[in-house]
Amino acid sequence: MRRRLRRTRASAAPDFGLFDASGAAGRAPVQRVRVLLPLPLPEPFDYRAPASMRLAPGDHVIAPVGPRELLGVVWSVEEGEDAARGADNLKPITERLPGPPLDDTARRFIEWTARYVIASPGAIMRMVVRAPEALRDPPVVHVYAPTPGFDGKLTETRLRVQAEAAREPETAAELARRAGVSPGVVKAMIDQGALTRSARSEDPPFAEPDLSRAGHPLSPAQANAAEDLQTLVRQGGFAAALLDGVTGSGKTEVYLEAVAEALAADPAAQVLVLLPEIALTQAVLARFEARFGASPVEWHSAIKPAHRRRAWREIAAGRARLVVGARSALFLPFANLRLIVIDEEHDPSYKQDEGVAYQARDLAVARAKLGECAIVLASATPSLETLVNAQSGRYAHVKLPARHGAAVLPDVELIDLRLDPPEKGKWLSPALVAATADSLARGEQALLYMNRRGYAPLTLCRACGHRMQSPETESWLVEHRYSGRLVCHLTGFSMPKPKACPKCLTPDSFVSIGPGVERIHEEVLERFPEARIEIFSSDTAPNGEAVRALIDRMERGDIDILIGTQIVAKGRDFPLLTLVGVIDADLGLKGGDLRAGERTFQLLSQVAGRAGRAELKGRALIQTYAPDEAVMQALAAMDRDGFLAAEAQARELVGMPPYGRLAAIVVSSPSEEQAHAAANELGAAAPNTDGVDVWGPAPAPLAVVRGRHRRRFLIRADRGVDLSAYMAAWMTRVKLTSAVRIQIDIDPYSFL
Ligand code: ADP
Repeated sequence: MRRRLRRTRASAAPDFGLFDASGAAGRAPVQRVRVLLPLPLPEPFDYRAPASMRLAPGDHVIAPVGPRELLGVVWSVEEGEDAARGADNLKPITERLPGPPLDDTARRFIEWTARYVIASPGAIMRMVVRAPEALRDPPVVHVYAPTPGFDGKLTETRLRVQAEAAREPETAAELARRAGVSPGVVKAMIDQGALTRSARSEDPPFAEPDLSRAGHPLSPAQANAAEDLQTLVRQGGFAAALLDGVTGSGKTEVYLEAVAEALAADPAAQVLVLLPEIALTQAVLARFEARFGASPVEWHSAIKPAHRRRAWREIAAGRARLVVGARSALFLPFANLRLIVIDEEHDPSYKQDEGVAYQARDLAVARAKLGECAIVLASATPSLETLVNAQSGRYAHVKLPARHGAAVLPDVELIDLRLDPPEKGKWLSPALVAATADSLARGEQALLYMNRRGYAPLTLCRACGHRMQSPETESWLVEHRYSGRLVCHLTGFSMPKPKACPKCLTPDSFVSIGPGVERIHEEVLERFPEARIEIFSSDTAPNGEAVRALIDRMERGDIDILIGTQIVAKGRDFPLLTLVGVIDADLGLKGGDLRAGERTFQLLSQVAGRAGRAELKGRALIQTYAPDEAVMQALAAMDRDGFLAAEAQARELVGMPPYGRLAAIVVSSPSEEQAHAAANELGAAAPNTDGVDVWGPAPAPLAVVRGRHRRRFLIRADRGVDLSAYMAAWMTRVKLTSAVRIQIDIDPYSFL
């Protein structure tokens, strides 16, 4: 049975008699309410509702907390004799806000998430209630329409205004503008009674998806996959599926059919499609719009406050039906969510490391379970976690075997940099240079991939060996030559590049070590002075508009060679792009990260897949010093399943995810001694439990960040262990001073 989650609101006016549990005629029963506040507290706070206010769970309220007034959510309501006892001593709720209440699923999701990631429920609530203005009635503007039956005389000018107002009621200023008259004319008409005022909401509902439209005709394989997903959606209840198909196989086309099914099956259904933030470009949104005749409701970090308010309210009220967003959209207060799609489910941007650390993909599955809805995870290179779930039958495994139409996968070749090295001080091997020249000669495009912004990752003094380091952070400053600055990619710190070494004061003594995209640009310019070359990174395309402009230039063929960071890995097809060169395939393998191999395979196969998506056959050349590594061999053979099977086996052997579970703790303090002592204290307090290994404390690889000294623990648990409960129990055993910060990361993706 599909549960409808909308709730009838309790009457705002006290309902005398009917609710009278105390027996005293004429008095509403006392309501004792527990309110979740956006504070790091383990529990909701107790209040009472004033006599004039009736509250229900999920209501948004303003409540006094010390000298402040905070926005909170009613978590539970008690009435009756027990509740009344002592209630007079409780502070009254100040106000109930008119916005849509948080439904039961949203509240349980907050509780579940808080417990899972070991955060306070208040911290999670803050991620849900992201647009407090949406809880007030929407702002209105006054608009004017012709007064019905008005028979006064109107000049020709005034008739023009009347005609405009008849076409569409508008504000006085706008009517004047449209009719080409002075504002005084409109004002006079209002005074005359020719125009009548009404209120128009600033936050009107979004256009509904048009479900009568059809998608592209699907190939038989696509149609089968679509049917599988639609069946899942039709069945109702929780179900998960991995939609597994190479880049360009039509996964988006297929899941759009599942979206259409969910929206059509229930006129109140809502659908959420999560995309990596980077993919949330106009091009992707335009595809949704083309399919459903209306833009989906967007949600990501860059939307404007007015849109945020409007979107939040419409989603909470159940009126916004199709939402496309980044990971934070998972916390939106949907009223009747029936399907979640996670596109590029393997993408690392679903993991949030800062603040409350969470993996949106995993939380999305939990949300789908709580709300009894379907979830589709789509990828060409699924995470090992998801693939294992599909192989074990926990998720349906829906496969799309080939690229759509004539497009075929590129030939992938490894270039062994030990045998075919670039010239000294250069980064492109002779083979890659030759291939690039060929592609230029044929009038086709080349993409050179280098996943590092800026010019060089290390700036060194030739005279004294001093390395330019980020202040109070163990991270080198990356030279950005075009802006003349040294930038810390970790903390965002930047400074002009000094003229002399700050240590030995020797002028002009710096050497740049290693390449970034700007340095590759310099080399390519030198080699191909006639070519049109551009860099695509978050520096050259810092916002959606710039990204779109760059993609347009690439599509039009205005660029011959594009040098890009991972921003190029996904996005639109470039029909003329036939060569992809990976400058340094080993870059992501350094650092001892559990998922380094998996991640390198995902990124590089995606980048390689950019070659030859249209009718022209593509070629990918991968430069590496480690061609024998399993991941490089798998890339050359395009053997994803072989690679993942080997990776799975290796992880199973040592009980690493997905065969075991991990948590990380970072203990940090401005004082190294204090961090050290606190970490030791914490380590001594670790509960001894079967199936749990605690490693650490050890200085973190990034031992100092923003002046805080960091110590790390890594905790590994067998699958059957409730790792969250273990961690929570551990944390109750220690009381540390406030200068020491403890950050817990369940299922960490960063080990720095
Ligand atoms: P994926 O999401 O697997 O990368 P897409 O759904 O983006 O694949 O499809 C790749 C390209 O092929 C897109 O431009 C898409 O519009 C086109 N395409 C896929 N399937 C069809 C189809 N059945 N009819 C028309 N075009 C299609």
